[in-house]
Amino acid sequence: MFGWLAKKRRRKILEAPFPFKWEAIIRSSLTHYKMLDEEEQRRLRERIAVFMAEKNWEGCGGLALTDEIRVTISAMACLLILNLPGGDYENVESILVYPSERVLPEPKIGFFETAQAPLETPGPISGQAFEQGPVLLVWDAVLESIHYAGYGYNVVYHEFAHKLDMQDGVADGTPRLRDRAEYRDWVKTCSREYRKLLKNVERGKRTFLDEYGAKDEAEFFAVATEHFFDQPLRMRRAAPELYRVLKNYYRQDPATREGQYAAVREEQTRKTEAVYAKATDEKEGDKE
Ligand SMILES: [Zn+2]
Repeated sequence: MFGWLAKKRRRKILEAPFPFKWEAIIRSSLTHYKMLDEEEQRRLRERIAVFMAEKNWEGCGGLALTDEIRVTISAMACLLILNLPGGDYENVESILVYPSERVLPEPKIGFFETAQAPLETPGPISGQAFEQGPVLLVWDAVLESIHYAGYGYNVVYHEFAHKLDMQDGVADGTPRLRDRAEYRDWVKTCSREYRKLLKNVERGKRTFLDEYGAKDEAEFFAVATEHFFDQPLRMRRAAPELYRVLKNYYRQDPATREGQYAAVREEQTRKTEAVYAKATDEKEGDKE
């Protein structure tokens, strides 16, 4: 339900200038941001501004929320929905952030949030997504995701992928898809890839996908999403079919983005080196 009052409020959010400080935070925390073109960056900033303003944020366990925390989490969460129709996490009301990994108490549940079924097993956790409930994140784990960017680990991608999976009412590893053809393709491809992962894990064979994805179909989708956005080139090489269905679903091609970005960087380096070599040659020439 999105009434005129909410629409008016959203328009106001979008009309406000995006703080420079927030953009600096995005640049330092979301490595993917620099790979987006200008139009995508603008759309991502819009999604972030709306997400930050419309969700209910709570610092828990003594954590005082800062712009850095809210902007970083929003940027990672919104990258997933950048090209999704609707472009919203309508099933996320609250985001609860704890300072460090530990066994957490029962979270407070919002008025409209009823079910309390966490997907992760009890124990020290870095994040949790509740069906029809909040997303819970541990800030230390988010910092670790930034520190180890490119290794296929990102707790924010993981938990928000669970939320996308839950949008159709069940956390079964299949999010809301476009049509029957996409659904058939998804089920066929993901079942095959999931069985492959199970077999490899049983045999103790090292796999590209994190073995936590073998827990069940919901974890498989969340783990695959982490790899898709955090190490897209490697994923496209190691699991091209799984990469393809995720690309269709997210309507994004991060591997191509990463490849193009790397090519531009290489070209820049080559040019800089050429200029430097020329300057050195001229200097050497002066000496003679
Ligand atoms: Zn999970």
